[in-house]
Amino acid sequence: MNHTQSHDLFTRALELIPGGVNSPVRAFKSVGGEPFFAQRAEGAYLQDVDGNRYIDYVGSWGPMIAGHAHPKVLAAVEKTMRDGLSFGVPNALEVTMAEAITAIVPSCEMVRMVNSGTEATLSAIRVARGATGRNRIVKFEGCYHGHGDSFLVKAGSGVMTLGLPNSPGVPSALADLTMTIAYNDFDAATKLFEEIGGEIAGLIIEPIVGNANCILPRDGYLQHLRELCTKHGALLIFDEVMTGFRVALGGAQQRYGITPDLSTFGKIIGGGMPVGAYGGRRELMAQVAPSGPIYQAGTLSGNPVAMAAGLATLELIQAPGFHEALERTTNVLCDGLEAAARDAGIAFHTTRAPGMFGLYFREGPVETFEDAKGSDSARFNRFFHAMLERGVYLAPSAFEAGFVSSAHGEAEIAATIDAARASFATL
Ligand SMILES: *Cc1c(COP(=O)(O)O)cnc(C)c1O
Repeated sequence: MNHTQSHDLFTRALELIPGGVNSPVRAFKSVGGEPFFAQRAEGAYLQDVDGNRYIDYVGSWGPMIAGHAHPKVLAAVEKTMRDGLSFGVPNALEVTMAEAITAIVPSCEMVRMVNSGTEATLSAIRVARGATGRNRIVKFEGCYHGHGDSFLVKAGSGVMTLGLPNSPGVPSALADLTMTIAYNDFDAATKLFEEIGGEIAGLIIEPIVGNANCILPRDGYLQHLRELCTKHGALLIFDEVMTGFRVALGGAQQRYGITPDLSTFGKIIGGGMPVGAYGGRRELMAQVAPSGPIYQAGTLSGNPVAMAAGLATLELIQAPGFHEALERTTNVLCDGLEAAARDAGIAFHTTRAPGMFGLYFREGPVETFEDAKGSDSARFNRFFHAMLERGVYLAPSAFEAGFVSSAHGEAEIAATIDAARASFATL
């Protein structure tokens, strides 16, 4: 493949944009090499500025669940934008969006639109703190909730370890309020709540961890957290920015039958436009300004064009059998990759939920962040590049989930498995 244009663009970008990118993982730092620059995308495919085409398993990091540039999404955006790009007064699409989210996700009786997943999680913990009058937040090792100060906290060993900020610029006085425990560890959560349950405003979790590859909850784990939060008067916050509308129409909370107090969304509800949302019980959300005192605002929040893209996407994923088909595609892909690795004699394991998957260069099972870290990431990096050369774009990190869209058909899956066979052979 020729990458001349991408290389030139990246050289220019490096001069002017930190690391040459506007979001760190795009820089290919963990897999090595240089990123390609996109020219256009359609269905399951991305095309770069040098004319190379890739089957895309990143899907803009989640939003493109119906495939890139879906004609119905583009038509909705085109129609809406002709009436103006932003009004600064309410518009009807915001109401339609609130109706759609609250109908699909019953735990959300009220919802507020924001512009990113980061804003959604920041706002949700503000509500948790404001509503409970408590300050501490609990999160899990390996879970990512956007780049808000309270979430950039390194996991310490031991349950009661005080959070250490893992980014300069995060005051330790704030990071100290974030407690980090191990995902899928029942006892760690019980112990923490027994010790300081009365100080915990909220526990925030990716119900399926998609930012440490793809780790599924053990049986009863989410229910255990629900019970602990209820018992100690802390709010359970499901960060469904990635899993929402993907692993089931109603997200992980529907798939596992858990009712969180607050939920955060992003990615899919924007259909590719910058959108986030947070919602929950009426009594909690009614405390948000201007109906209550907990302040949160946004000049472009509820943007009509973004709402149109999101609503068109929500309509597509409500087609009968949509998520079942997504699950089948994910399984065929993962089974095929595992078979190809087995034939090549390579230690390899996949985890999957409908529309998302994790790849590990180790034997299974993978149920904890420690398990995920046990994957041979040097091997993943070689695999990543071998696949890229064969026209398959995987997430450029051994610790990011991959995504399948409804545009990934049998041909794309078969081509991906063929590419994997050839790539495994080079390892
Ligand atoms: C992507 C993501 C976020 C952050 O969303 P942005 O739109 O990138 O700010 C938060 N939580 C989870 C689980 C995510 O996957």
